[in-house]
Amino acid sequence: MRRVERERLDSLQRLWTPWRMAYIADPDREIAGCPFCVLPGSGDDRESLIVARRRLCYAVLNAFPYNPGHLMIVPFRHLSPYTELRPEELHEMADLSQQAVRALAEASGPDAYNLGWNVGAVAGAGITDHIHQHVVPRWDGETNFMPVLGQTRVLPELLEETYERLRPVFAED
Ligand SMILES: [Zn+2]
Repeated sequence: MRRVERERLDSLQRLWTPWRMAYIADPDREIAGCPFCVLPGSGDDRESLIVARRRLCYAVLNAFPYNPGHLMIVPFRHLSPYTELRPEELHEMADLSQQAVRALAEASGPDAYNLGWNVGAVAGAGITDHIHQHVVPRWDGETNFMPVLGQTRVLPELLEETYERLRPVFAED
């Protein structure tokens, strides 16, 4: 593929699947074990950036967010295939996704959202062994700041601040 075509494709993928980039620059990508299994068992939800827990799934801030408030909805059960998620897991994840959108709307008022699943590495999944869903808040005009060729985005808000804003809103559900 020619360089210009590849760059155009890359920028389109960043617009349509913003979570795709989330883990590419992750220096801890090679950590032992599965991060989505380790996080909820760490005993410190604030440290783990877990903003909400339900019976079968939880919501966690992406430590390498596309945008401030980039959340992931993760089943507690360690599995990879989307087709093997049980109906009760899918229902609870859908409920938590709606709560995530409500919490983001209240905490930071985005103009739009991307909700999506990357099933498999080729589709952009950074962690392929433990399926999860992304909820990404979007703001009108943000693409003005998006570096087309760069690998990183400048985030105006610290993760801890995002956590403090979102956690209480989830708790009200
Ligand atoms: Zn896992």
